[in-house]
Amino acid sequence: MAVDPLDDRRFAGYRRKLIEQIRGRGIDDLAILQLFDRVPRHLFVPEGVWPRAYEDAAIPIGYGQTASQPSLQALYLSVLQVTPDDTVLEIGTGSGFLTGLLALSADRVYSVERIRELSVRARAALDDLRINNVALMVGDGTIGWRKYAPFDVIVVSAASPSVPPSFVDQLAEGGRLIIPIGTRESQELMLIRREDSDIHEETIHGECTFVPLLGRFGWTSESSETSEDPT
Ligand code: SAH
Repeated sequence: MAVDPLDDRRFAGYRRKLIEQIRGRGIDDLAILQLFDRVPRHLFVPEGVWPRAYEDAAIPIGYGQTASQPSLQALYLSVLQVTPDDTVLEIGTGSGFLTGLLALSADRVYSVERIRELSVRARAALDDLRINNVALMVGDGTIGWRKYAPFDVIVVSAASPSVPPSFVDQLAEGGRLIIPIGTRESQELMLIRREDSDIHEETIHGECTFVPLLGRFGWTSESSETSEDPT
């Protein structure tokens, strides 16, 4: 399916309003704001939620998952400072919208999603936009993607009770990892940096709610207990 230019014109005004809202939340990096114009969010969500595609809110994308709030994604990008040379690992492709934003900022993006149908839909939207520096994999992202490690940037879009050790292991020197950490109900955004072989941790945002990271080093699907130690 090609991008319908008429639909795109219809949505351009909404996109500008969304960008103003993101700017209103303190993100004023022009390169980041422009990404939200270059990647039309409605193309990444089911047609039934197109009227809400440019609200600054999380929206349902099916399979019990949500596309994250755009201003939080803008915060991710402003904290991570992705450069054109960077190799990025994204955990939780979801709609693929953040994947697209990252792909236009980085050299290459590797993105893992546990729900096959979402990965397939994300691929279709990325193809429509001719974004072709993205590798998608279906599987448990809590183990990272060792084959392409180390990564300059690791972006986790699902909430975890603790930082999976695989992510820290797969972080390059100078690398940045962002991940929501907390309970199932509420998390803080943690930024973890590897500098001179030291690991630095800081909280960059409080009180947010992401869908759970389900897998070996995240939550188990049935309860709020963490997975058993797999060693
Ligand atoms: N940035 C995405 C966020 C989607 S929500 C967007 O804006 O659309 C987070 C996604 O993480 C969900 O699609 C969920 O299925 C996925 N997820 C949860 N646990 C995962 C795991 N262990 N590995 C890969 N993906 C996972």
